[in-house]
Amino acid sequence: MRQAATRGSGEEPSLRVFAIPMRTRFRGVTSREGVLVRGAAGWGEFSPFAEYGPRECARWWAACHEAAEQGWPDPVRDRVPVNVTVPAVGPEHAARIVAEGRGCRTAKVKVAERGQRAADDIARVEAVRDAIGPGGRVRVDANGGWDVDTAVRMVRELDRFGLEYVEQPCATLAELAEVRRRVDVPVAADESIRRAEDPLRVRAAGAADIVVLKVQPLGGVRAALRVAEACGLPVVVSSAVETSVGLAAGVALAAALPELPYACGLATMRLLAADVCAEPLEPVDGYLPVRRPEVDADRLAEVEADPAGWPARVAAAREVWREQRATAGEV
Ligand SMILES: [Mg+2]
Repeated sequence: MRQAATRGSGEEPSLRVFAIPMRTRFRGVTSREGVLVRGAAGWGEFSPFAEYGPRECARWWAACHEAAEQGWPDPVRDRVPVNVTVPAVGPEHAARIVAEGRGCRTAKVKVAERGQRAADDIARVEAVRDAIGPGGRVRVDANGGWDVDTAVRMVRELDRFGLEYVEQPCATLAELAEVRRRVDVPVAADESIRRAEDPLRVRAAGAADIVVLKVQPLGGVRAALRVAEACGLPVVVSSAVETSVGLAAGVALAAALPELPYACGLATMRLLAADVCAEPLEPVDGYLPVRRPEVDADRLAEVEADPAGWPARVAAAREVWREQRATAGEV
């Protein structure tokens, strides 16, 4: 599958296409694929999921272009607290993941997994609370998998172990708002936020106390900072399961936010079987350092893939992005 990089000419950027196996299936994906671009300011990552069309991809391209050509705003902190993520595994395995969680003092536990029972969620959350201790924080993420009544019942049940918040208990804004009215545990919106205007809709609907923001879908660090400011709710920065190049943009956002009351979902490097940097962005004592890791030529070569459809995807995304910038008067 290895091939020489697609060499750019004229204003075409030089694209390096990667394909990295996932250690665990994510969004039905077993291989994380995307493009790295080197520009005047450093490396940028463009890794929209396969089902996204040019309009959606334009924002992911904007984030890549910002990283490569512009760089990011100055940080206001030099490290970012992150959570360890516990998938829908059994209690012993869950406890082990927390114990091996690189010092993370916050655990995010996946719940509402299809095919599992309430007792599975309860046993997993209890095991995580025991493993992290009374001083640690435990949040649960249902990925929109509950209906309102189930969410209310489960949140009350799981709050016996002390919940920091519940992430996306149900699918729709109306359901989130109803859950939020009926439980004392704060509600965070994740899947409800896919575009820049979504956090404002979440807030207007009274659907969440906290918003989960990701850099690539929102069009870059600066765009995400504007979204955070306009929305006014506390932000948890999360990754789109990127290489260290993409993760660094998430770290830059978390580092530049005026307030950062919660640990971020940026400790996702482990989900990938390899990285493109010699020193991957992995937590130390529960924090990610604020830095931009350098791409390592040998590591990139090991995961480099056939460009296939990527040059065309980039071209289509860039076309929409340019039109939007021209309309906004930014060119
Ligand atoms: Mg989530």
